[in-house]
Amino acid sequence: MTKPSREAVLVGGGITGTLTAHALQQAGWGVTLLEAQHLGAGSSSRTAAGIRQQFSTRETVLGMRYAVDVYRSWADTVGGEVSPIRQNGYLFLFDSEDGWARAQARVQDQRRWGLTEVEALAPGPLVERFPFVDPEAIVGGTWCPTDGFLAPEIVYNDAAAAVRAGGGRVLQGAPVTGSAHAGGRLVAVDTPKGRVEGDLFVDCTNAWTRRVGAVLGGTALPVAALKRYLWFIERGDAMSAEALLAMPLTISPSGAYCRPENAGSLLAGWKHEAGDVSASFTYDDQDTVEPEFFHRSGTEARPFEAWMALAEVLPPLAEFAGISATTAGFYGTTPDHNPFLDFDPQVPNLLRLVGFSGHGAMFGPFTARVAAALAEAGRSLDHVEVLGEQASLAPFRIGRALGGGEAMVI
Ligand SMILES: Cc1cc2nc3c(=O)[nH]c(=O)nc-3n(C[C@H](O)[C@H](O)[C@H](O)COP(=O)(O)OP(=O)(O)OC[C@H]3O[C@@H](n4cnc5c(N)ncnc54)[C@H](O)[C@@H]3O)c2cc1C
Repeated sequence: MTKPSREAVLVGGGITGTLTAHALQQAGWGVTLLEAQHLGAGSSSRTAAGIRQQFSTRETVLGMRYAVDVYRSWADTVGGEVSPIRQNGYLFLFDSEDGWARAQARVQDQRRWGLTEVEALAPGPLVERFPFVDPEAIVGGTWCPTDGFLAPEIVYNDAAAAVRAGGGRVLQGAPVTGSAHAGGRLVAVDTPKGRVEGDLFVDCTNAWTRRVGAVLGGTALPVAALKRYLWFIERGDAMSAEALLAMPLTISPSGAYCRPENAGSLLAGWKHEAGDVSASFTYDDQDTVEPEFFHRSGTEARPFEAWMALAEVLPPLAEFAGISATTAGFYGTTPDHNPFLDFDPQVPNLLRLVGFSGHGAMFGPFTARVAAALAEAGRSLDHVEVLGEQASLAPFRIGRALGGGEAMVI
C-alpha cells in the first residue's frame, strides 16, 4: 500500500465521520478519525434512524434517493456483510384539509424530482393497505415504499472497519482539545493521544460543533443542541409479530411517530419544545432522562401522551402492553433544518458537516458524497453530481439566508 500524499483528519466518530472518512479514503486521502469517546457514542447510537426520501427540498430528495441506493448496496459500497437498511416505507398521516392539500402538492414535486414511487392515498385505499389505521381519524396520507429505517451500529462499525482495512487510523478516547494554525490554515489538532497533522480537517461533531468549531478556530455556526427522546412500546398480544414487523415508519398528524424495533416492540418519538444546551451539555447528559419524559412517570408524562396520540390514529396500539424503556440524545438543529455541508469561511481547509436537524443518519452517504467532492475541489462548490443529476449545494452553504428551508421536519 503506497502512502497517500494528502492527509485528512476527521473529528467525530458517528455516522457522518465514519462514512466521510471512508469516502475520502476511497478518493485517495490518507485518513485519521478522532473520536472523543467511542464510535457511535453521540447521536448515531441514539437515533430512530429513519430514512426517507419524502422531503420538500429538491436536493434532499435527490440526496436521500442516493443514500437509499448506497445503503441498499452496502456490500459493494462499504463492504459490510449485512445491509443496514429495512425498507418498510414511511407513511405520513394528515387530519386537516390544509395539511393534506400541501402534502399532495409535495408528492407532485417529489415525483417530478425522481421519487416516482411516492403516492398520495385517500383514507379508503390507505386503510386497505394499512388496516391498523383508523380511516375516521385522517383525511389522507402519503406513502413511499422505498423509505424505511437503518441499523445505525452497522453503518458506523462497518464504515470504521473499512477505513481501518484501507490503512486509515481510527482513534477512540481522543477528544480534540486544541489546534495549530499557520498562514491562516489549520495544520494540526491536539488530543490526549498526541498531535495529529493534516492537509484537510473535517468537523463531524454535529451537536458539539459550536464548541469544537471554536477549538478549531472556525465560524460560530447556528447549530442548537436540542434534547430528544425515544420510547419502546411493548406489543403484548395486541398484534402479531409479523404485522408489527411489517409496519412502516408511521407519522401521526400530531407529529408523534413509531416504527417496529423488533418482533416485540415499537420505537416511538415525539418532538417537544427544548432549549439549546450546545454551550454546556456533557457526554453524560445524553443519558439523562428528565422525569417528565421517563416511561415510569405515569399517565401525565410525555411517553404516555405520545403513546395515546399514536393510538388515536392507530387503534391497535391502545391495546399494547406498556412502555418498557426510554432513551435520549441530542439533535444538532439549524434554523432552516438543512445541514451545513461546506468549507468554513474562516479556515479554508476546514470542512464543516454539521447541523443535521434530526436527519444525519439518513444523510450519511449524501454527506460523504458532498464532502468528497468539496475535498477534491478544495473550495466551496455550487453543485455536485448525484445519480447523474446536478444537486445544488445552495441549501447547505454556510452563509446562506436562513429563512424558509426544509418543511418536512419531525
Ligand atoms: C432521538 C433521536 C431520533 C433521531 N431520529 C433520526 C431519524 O429518524 N433519522 C435520521 O436520519 N436521524 C435521526 N436522528 C439524528 C441522527 O441521529 C443524527 O443526525 C446523526 O446521528 C448525526 O451523526 P453525526 O455522526 O453527525 O453526529 P454524532 O453521531 O453525534 O457524532 C458526533 C461525535 O463527535 C464526538 N465529539 C464531540 N466532541 C468531540 C471532540 N472534541 N473531539 C472528538 N470527537 C468529539 C462525539 O463523541 C460524537 O461521537 C435522531 C436523533 C435523535 C437523538
